[in-house]
Amino acid sequence: MPEIKRLSNGIFEVIKDKKHLATKNLDSGKTVYGEKLITVEGVEYRTWDPRRSKLGAMVLKKFNTPLKEDSKVLYLGAASGTTVSHVSDIVSEGAVYAVEFAPRSMRDLIGLASRRKNIHPILADAGKPDSYSHLVEPVDLIFQDVAQPNQAEIAARNAVRFLKRDGYLLLSIKARSIDTVAKPKEVFKAEVKKLEQAFEPRFEILNAKDLMPYHEDHLGVLAKLK
Ligand code: SAM
Repeated sequence: MPEIKRLSNGIFEVIKDKKHLATKNLDSGKTVYGEKLITVEGVEYRTWDPRRSKLGAMVLKKFNTPLKEDSKVLYLGAASGTTVSHVSDIVSEGAVYAVEFAPRSMRDLIGLASRRKNIHPILADAGKPDSYSHLVEPVDLIFQDVAQPNQAEIAARNAVRFLKRDGYLLLSIKARSIDTVAKPKEVFKAEVKKLEQAFEPRFEILNAKDLMPYHEDHLGVLAKLK
């Protein structure tokens, strides 16, 4: 019989043969990216692969993930929806505004959203929040995984438009998308400084850790508005 342990709101550890990070499946019987379905005490869970999800890795690296059942989330860099699907499980009574600019990924995301009513796919450039401001309400959390050189600026532009005063930013910074030759540690330091000082609004950093062993040369950051 598998065992279940609650890690935080909507996030679980299922123990079956080994430990799996997991969320409760909002779309019963269906998988999204080949993950396992495990039923414990009549509840179906989907395993969450931290090697395919920066947010999953952040959970295992003990970041506080400030999500509740009714949270509103702006997700920048949604790709085909691997992680978006887990956020959708967690905020089952809330909403995920999923921004992605690659049309191929957007097709998958639209398919996912047709089965999960809390996902709102938006085909747009995350660097141009004005272009989707009519589609997004004020949010409790911005999650950003765009792997772009100007990611601190993108975060600030979206935060000023959409983040509630007491909301949070969770960000994945990929060192190589900013500088291919500099040492990742130096890149991370500079990016954190940009978040703290370079743009308006400024952020207060609450936690910053590398995402090893799940993602090489990536920094996870949790921040709130200063
Ligand atoms: N977060 C996804 C997950 O865990 O399933 C993976 C995201 S992938 C590393 C980065 C994604 O960001 C790509 O799909 C890319 O097309 C998208 N992206 C990059 N720059 C963007 C931008 N300016 N606006 C919207 N999407 C962007």
